[in-house]
Amino acid sequence: MNSYSQKYYSGSKFIRSISKKTLEVINPSNLKVLGSIAIQNKKEVNKVISNLKKEQFKWKKLSALERSKELHNVANRIDNSNLRELAKTMSQEVGKPITEAYGEIANVSSAIRYFAEMARNEAGNIAGTTQSESLQMETKEPMGISAHILPFNFPILIMIWTVAASLAAGNSVIIKPSEQASFTSLIFMKFFNQLSANVVSCLTGDATTGKAIIEHKDVNIVSFTGSAETAKKVYQSCAENFKPCHLEGGGSDYMIISDKTDIDFAATAAITSSFHLSGQICTSTEHILVHSKIYNKFKRALTKKLNALRVGDGLKKNELGPLSTEAAFNKAKNIINDAANKGALITCHKDSEHIESLKGYFICPAIIEKTKSNMLCEKDEMFAPFVTIEPYIKISEAVKKVNKSQFGLGFNMITKDLEEAHYISRNIEAGLVWINNPLIDNDALPFGGLKKSGIGRELGKMGLDTFRQTKMVIIDNEQKIHEWWYPYSEKQFRT
Ligand code: NAD
Repeated sequence: MNSYSQKYYSGSKFIRSISKKTLEVINPSNLKVLGSIAIQNKKEVNKVISNLKKEQFKWKKLSALERSKELHNVANRIDNSNLRELAKTMSQEVGKPITEAYGEIANVSSAIRYFAEMARNEAGNIAGTTQSESLQMETKEPMGISAHILPFNFPILIMIWTVAASLAAGNSVIIKPSEQASFTSLIFMKFFNQLSANVVSCLTGDATTGKAIIEHKDVNIVSFTGSAETAKKVYQSCAENFKPCHLEGGGSDYMIISDKTDIDFAATAAITSSFHLSGQICTSTEHILVHSKIYNKFKRALTKKLNALRVGDGLKKNELGPLSTEAAFNKAKNIINDAANKGALITCHKDSEHIESLKGYFICPAIIEKTKSNMLCEKDEMFAPFVTIEPYIKISEAVKKVNKSQFGLGFNMITKDLEEAHYISRNIEAGLVWINNPLIDNDALPFGGLKKSGIGRELGKMGLDTFRQTKMVIIDNEQKIHEWWYPYSEKQFRT
């Protein structure tokens, strides 16, 4: 039984929950029970938030430089720690290959350091005055308490993208991790236990816990990352409670492969972008449009690379692990059966029998061709190790097809043609555009989507401003009676 079972983190301590409602956490690679988490109720939510409120007063009073030093200390501790327990737990909870778990954690401290410095770089803006001798400015201030409702797929990195920004801005934070990644998130909390104020808390639970957090009167902003369907519910709860929110929803990204490309490069980029984390990345490539001139050659190269992928337990030498939960596995089965029943052409991994005989939520990765708009694979985010491919003739038609999507998160183009690259970056409706370099991000650049993929941005300066409120301040040190003030003069009446 995991030692973090039924615990939560508050006041820099791990506390045993009094909630009677619990949920088992299953390792998706072997279906063994890892432990159980408590479903925290309103009572615990209230207690934790009331502590956070007190602690936030201390935190916001620190100078920007002091807060920055404390955040650098968190980053230093991460950089100097043995991260084996964290990476192993992430692999066991979400089925992620352990190399990818280490890869995720390796990007965490740079994001903390980025916001630590960004927040002391500027705290507002002084405007050119409309009246002489008047100081007229905008100041940036913390919002109070931010809630972070998180998905399972990048439990630490996605958490830190918004949590580091919010702490740097002077807020305290309440984290609600995914049911499937709670132990990983709790283990990570130890890195916050030397902060001078207890401004970080992590409460496990499900939708009811998430809702109780959003609805709490002292939560001032909600940052949500998860599916578009849940994003809509969170948006509704925020609207009812008149709260600002930052939403990162799902995606169903396209990749266009030009005929002006090296085919092996295109197939390697496509296999990585589509199948990484078994297709469970918000920016996984789910649909590939390939120039008709190279379609057959590309398909052969992609199939060869698909067959070379090793599928199995993430703690062993495999590229692909299982899907995260039984629900995700059943949804994926449904998508592939629906495509087959409606006449799609499906090329499965050569070891399909072996993969499907594995104990765990393993599903055979596949390439889907000849799809129709009424198939599930074309209608919604698949979030599974499947990719559709189809040929195109004119790039403008391919762009039109991409822009018809209800989502607008990421988009990839593979081309050596600079003119095509510029045409694409101008015309694609997506928040993230990658030319020849899929899935990459940068702490200094805003990350987020259009349409059903989200509202607002994380990372970059926008990612910090998400957690700051803006105040207009005008200060006149001289007490001057202005000519437009009451009472009006005779001259004013005449004009
Ligand atoms: P999910 O939507 O099922 O759950 C996300 C979180 O919301 C969980 O913590 C869950 O407990 C909570 N929740 C569920 N219902 C709620 C409610 N009514 N009120 C408040 N909280 C509620 O998502 P998931 O399956 O964990 O993650 C996968 C999804 O996340 C995919 O759709 C993926 O595309 C998306 N995602 C998006 C991004 C992005 O940056 N756009 C990044 C990662 C994942």
